[in-house]
Amino acid sequence: MTPDASLLLHWYDHHRRTLPWRAAPGQQADPYHVWLSEIMLQQTVVQTVIPYYQRFLARFPTVDALAEAPQEEVLQLWAGLGYYARARNLHACAQAVHKLGAFPRTVEGLQTLPGIGAYTSRAIAAIAFNIPTVPVDGNVERITARLNAVEDPLPAARPLLARLASHLNDDPAAQARPSDFAQALFDLGASLCSPRSPSCLTCPWQDGCLARARNMAEALPARQKKKARPTRHAILFRVIDPEGRVLLRSRPPEGLLGGTDDLPGTPWSESQSTPSPARLAETAFTRYAPLQAQWEDCGEVKHIFSHFTLLVRIYGCTIPAQSNYPIPPKHGRFRFLKEAVLSSVMKKCLLVGDRHRPVPG
Ligand code: SF4
Repeated sequence: MTPDASLLLHWYDHHRRTLPWRAAPGQQADPYHVWLSEIMLQQTVVQTVIPYYQRFLARFPTVDALAEAPQEEVLQLWAGLGYYARARNLHACAQAVHKLGAFPRTVEGLQTLPGIGAYTSRAIAAIAFNIPTVPVDGNVERITARLNAVEDPLPAARPLLARLASHLNDDPAAQARPSDFAQALFDLGASLCSPRSPSCLTCPWQDGCLARARNMAEALPARQKKKARPTRHAILFRVIDPEGRVLLRSRPPEGLLGGTDDLPGTPWSESQSTPSPARLAETAFTRYAPLQAQWEDCGEVKHIFSHFTLLVRIYGCTIPAQSNYPIPPKHGRFRFLKEAVLSSVMKKCLLVGDRHRPVPG
């Protein structure tokens, strides 16, 4: 179905969200602002993104400034937002745009840049360059499933929903205001057409919506049952030197939390092959501890990743002044916190317990 775009745009003109990356009504959005916000918003909610976006923009006011910054500084500012491949791609993309002189102004051109796929290219093209295209994120998928009462479960229904969504802007009113139409869809999905308890009675598209007519909005989109999230276990060692620095090693640039800093310790083992806690501790102390010490149990940290839960037991020690404990380089080097790139899980690991904590800052 092709809904009446003028109804949605009228609603948007009165209820649009004010967001730091959004241009004022009637103004053209800056492609750098749109791109930066879209990369940050992948897998992350708006309220979390806002302070990161503001810090990035204060430090890197232009895409050229971001391109010229050292990658380590970019990762440091990103630390805590998760999915660190995004930060590396962000930097690589800024460098590519810097070389080109500007962001490409087509969906196809945008897709040649690192980290920009089908959704992000359409979001930038529509919002910043006013190109009539529909970016299909989770919000737009949900609206499309409901408008058309698509009962096939996700993720299998994704290609069908993408095809249906590509017609949402067929109406001439949408073609006349591509930037506002895309943002109106996002706002509808983020407010009235929310995942739980959609507010159909105040929705500008209620008359044409099949899910509302069939009283099944809340049940859509259907989802295939997820497998239970497995648990991984690890033991990490928090070693503090007499200056209050902490022993940290760098994770490889690729893969989970790539390029961030980590406490040394055991690998994060899958639940199927996890030894008993006593066995894990014994192996940890003999094979993975960076030094022989009077280890103190500082507590446990639980962190939920998208595809597994991590349970980490932290053992700590503080090296007394004027002592000489040689630590093999594979366990890392002592660093002040301000020099480290810390993921959210590592921040938790550094804070748990009252003793053997690095100096703050
Ligand atoms: S009527 Fe309800 S289900 Fe349909 S688009 Fe509007 S809020 Fe969503």
